[in-house]
Amino acid sequence: MPRFVIQQHHATSMHWDFRLEVDGTFKSWAVPKGPSMRPRDKRLAMAVDDHSIGWGDFEGTIGEGEYGAGPVIVWDRGSYENLRDESMQEALAAGHASFWLEGEKLHGGWSLRRTDGRRWLLVKRRDEHADSGDPVATRPESVLSGRTIEGVREGTPPHGVKKGTRDQLYNEARKLNIEGRSSMNKSQLQRAVDAKR
Ligand code: MN
Repeated sequence: MPRFVIQQHHATSMHWDFRLEVDGTFKSWAVPKGPSMRPRDKRLAMAVDDHSIGWGDFEGTIGEGEYGAGPVIVWDRGSYENLRDESMQEALAAGHASFWLEGEKLHGGWSLRRTDGRRWLLVKRRDEHADSGDPVATRPESVLSGRTIEGVREGTPPHGVKKGTRDQLYNEARKLNIEGRSSMNKSQLQRAVDAKR
């Protein structure tokens, strides 16, 4: 299954870079408001240059003076399925793609429709996942690190670790090289991580 990734990026302005793997590259759109779960919302998606598949793992700060300077987090990622009979390449060339996302946050069908030049609309399809909350607002954290975009900007410790899962704490403990982490429960991991910070 081809991959998708959504990177929240605060450059000149905040946007969510929506990327679909097509023929070994990430086709990309910048979505100023991020994806919506509501089929009545038509989210502007500006087509931007293709990005390499490797870029989809990038999280951190693009330096001052570089294009797109500012913090980036991997907001969601997973796989997608083309819902149309034609190939994704053909669908995008024709300006109307439909696909099913299986991410860590986003699930269900979306469509991308070109309206004019680089302007596209990203719209949730009507299915069992439609109208199920507002993950852009309620789940701001990175799926890689648990950090928010503000956390990356300020270089603060990962957001949400205090109320995080054991997996998040374990990953934090691994980064801090805490010995014996494999056998620790969640509260032991929390204490060990707090002590190291
Ligand atoms: Mn961007």
